[in-house]
Amino acid sequence: MNDQNKMAAGLTRREFIKVGTAGATGIALTGMGALKVSAAENSGQLPRRRYGRTGLEISALVGASDWSPDVIPLAVKAGVNYWHKAHRWTAETMPEAIKSQPRESYHLEVVVDRVGGDHMKGHIDEEQHYQFVKHAVARSGVGYYDVFKFHFGYHSIDEAKNNLGIINAFDRLKKEGLVKHLAISQHHYNNIGGDMAYDIVTYLIEHSPFEAAQFFYTYGDKQQLTDVLAFAKKNDFGTIAMKTMGGVGRAATDKRMQTMLAEPRFKGSTPGAAMVKWLMSNSNLTAAVIATKNFDQLQENVAAARQSTVGSHDRHALDLLAAFNKGTTCLLCADCVTHCSEHIAIADILRYERYALDYHDLSRARTEYKTLTKNGTACIACGDCMPACQADINIVAKLKEVHNLLG
Ligand code: SF4
Ligand code: SF4
Repeated sequence: MNDQNKMAAGLTRREFIKVGTAGATGIALTGMGALKVSAAENSGQLPRRRYGRTGLEISALVGASDWSPDVIPLAVKAGVNYWHKAHRWTAETMPEAIKSQPRESYHLEVVVDRVGGDHMKGHIDEEQHYQFVKHAVARSGVGYYDVFKFHFGYHSIDEAKNNLGIINAFDRLKKEGLVKHLAISQHHYNNIGGDMAYDIVTYLIEHSPFEAAQFFYTYGDKQQLTDVLAFAKKNDFGTIAMKTMGGVGRAATDKRMQTMLAEPRFKGSTPGAAMVKWLMSNSNLTAAVIATKNFDQLQENVAAARQSTVGSHDRHALDLLAAFNKGTTCLLCADCVTHCSEHIAIADILRYERYALDYHDLSRARTEYKTLTKNGTACIACGDCMPACQADINIVAKLKEVHNLLG
């Protein structure tokens, strides 16, 4: 990224190093003029969009509690005002850069998981969800969470219709002033005979008190996802795209890709920046959550989000990424999963591969891989899933490869 883009994001590398040395608390306490975080300074930085029926105006890039503590103050300064999985912060660990702001100027999310197992095997339990959030509010000292999010979502439309445990827990907490809005993070469940995320979200938009949803969405994704975004917007339903950067981390360490990206036709664009611009150019989408580990990533994403227009050089970068990904990087569409008689969660396995190869977080990838009931070794190499893969992945070989990496 050039210096102009860095300045556009409001912070130079030298300032970043200074902040990194001072730490998160340093920002609030040292009173460094240019670095002092205030709501006023944030205006005019990252664009903000209405998060559907919640009525919240949230930053087009949302933050997450697992971001590096060094990056968070800079993200606040750049205008990030919505924090995914914020319940992981206690009163002691919540970044000073956030909690020093007026409470109404930032939005915190509590994420509620199934109990008695993971997102596949666990169940919905109104009382336990209620107690979980109550304790999280008390532990965090934040007073309330702006958004109560059902993590990983319903297994099927049928479950969404008939199991009201999540909605009841939310209603009780809302009456007590501990949460304000209801959202969902929806995955596909076709490996266990459930429904696809876009079908479940479409149902929720029309038939439920949910106000917003987060789901997988990336360049080259299926038309159904684009249609859901348009439908959501029409119905004032908020949307956050996740897992958008498939292959970007791999491309960044691939010498051939980097040599090609230096060609004049790309004009300095990168697959990551182009992806952010492409996401932001869709006015039906509220925001995106993108794993951000360091200063350069944050700066690149913020500068791209502020531009939001996809130029021909960005299109070239996206097309180059698509070609690079063909046959290697899973789009997480889960189309293949329906065809697997062994009920292997292929898309989940390849999501864990993404943690290792794109986020460079091998430890998280291995931890998640260990939780699988059936891992890559359950594949009987029948090949039934492969014709369904629009990314042309040799799934049999890929599952072996991932098992060697993560097993
Ligand atoms: S090749 Fe493996 S993953 Fe694909 S359908 Fe057959 S058993 Fe399932
Ligand atoms: S392997 Fe192919 S079909 Fe299966 S989830 Fe990935 S991209 Fe979709």
